[in-house]
Amino acid sequence: MVVRLQGRELVNFASNDYLGLSFHADVCHAAIDCIGRSGLGSGASRLVSGDDPGMHALEARLAAWKGYEACLITGSGMLANIGLLQALADRHTHLFSDRLNHASLVDGARLSGATVHRYKHLDMQQLEALLITHQAKRRIIVSDGVFSMDGDCADVDGLIRLAGQHDCLLLIDDAHGIGTVGKSGKGLTAVPDGRDAAKAGHARLIEVGTLGKAFGGYGAFILGSTELIEGLRQRQRTMIYSTALPPAMIAAADAALTLMQKGGLVQKLQENIAYFRARAADLPIKDSATAIQPLIIGDDAEAMQAAAHLRQHGFFVPAIRPPTVPDGSARLRITITAAHEHEQIDALLAGLRQL
Ligand SMILES: *Cc1c(COP(=O)(O)O)cnc(C)c1O
Repeated sequence: MVVRLQGRELVNFASNDYLGLSFHADVCHAAIDCIGRSGLGSGASRLVSGDDPGMHALEARLAAWKGYEACLITGSGMLANIGLLQALADRHTHLFSDRLNHASLVDGARLSGATVHRYKHLDMQQLEALLITHQAKRRIIVSDGVFSMDGDCADVDGLIRLAGQHDCLLLIDDAHGIGTVGKSGKGLTAVPDGRDAAKAGHARLIEVGTLGKAFGGYGAFILGSTELIEGLRQRQRTMIYSTALPPAMIAAADAALTLMQKGGLVQKLQENIAYFRARAADLPIKDSATAIQPLIIGDDAEAMQAAAHLRQHGFFVPAIRPPTVPDGSARLRITITAAHEHEQIDALLAGLRQL
């Protein structure tokens, strides 16, 4: 897991390529073989001539794996969320959104024209109070699954319960959980203990995942009921008016899913996370069980200096500053992957202790 920066090779602790699939031989060869057969680009939107049988096959595989009726593959997660919220919500809709949700959910909400109620990060009581106060014909609770800058997790079971009790839809964006959480990386909606929350909350639950993170490629997918997904095929502007993913990217994602389902890489990732955490107990790392292990520094300039220090010692760890994170919570966002060696993690810890 290395990155080249200004002629130097740095160990990369900044990537969301959690399983190292972006350079896995099976994934890369699947893409290369596909380019040999089909060429590079898809040439047009899915609704014109860019559709590909492989895309439908992968949609069926993803839906079955995750326990949903149907799936729609689109461009990036940013495009998925913007298009999904625009298609689902209008100015009569009320959205209930965690304050730390990803920018794509924030922008999607804005573009939809819906009324947005933001609740304190993970605060289920405040969410419930808002749900009681604000009635509307269509209401949607919107939350990241694993939160991208903190590595903590939404209480998915609690959200499903609230959505049921208050008759709302629930949108979970598990961009960082799929491929990393749970035994074969099914993500937050499938844990704990293999209990299939997707089935339990079936009709209300809509989920977004990306192909750009643990899948190691590019693109995104939306999971939900057949009715929802067929509706999106007709209405989701970011899919309809945008060139379809290259077929090679679909072939790569298909190979990535096969590797994910084998479980070995997911286990290796989880082992590396445990290895890092067991040795970082004395450092001010946030309490996170996921691949995202933020070290909170606070001051913007100090966070930049810390990142520069690590770069000098051979590690690429980005400083994340406001407005990406709240004021006064600048941090080093360390991501652990299955492709890290224990020695690389040990060396990073030594570098962090020098700070
Ligand atoms: C990264 C991310 C996205 C955007 O996905 P891309 O495929 O990179 O556009 C959406 N939601 C969350 C929670 C993310 O972390």
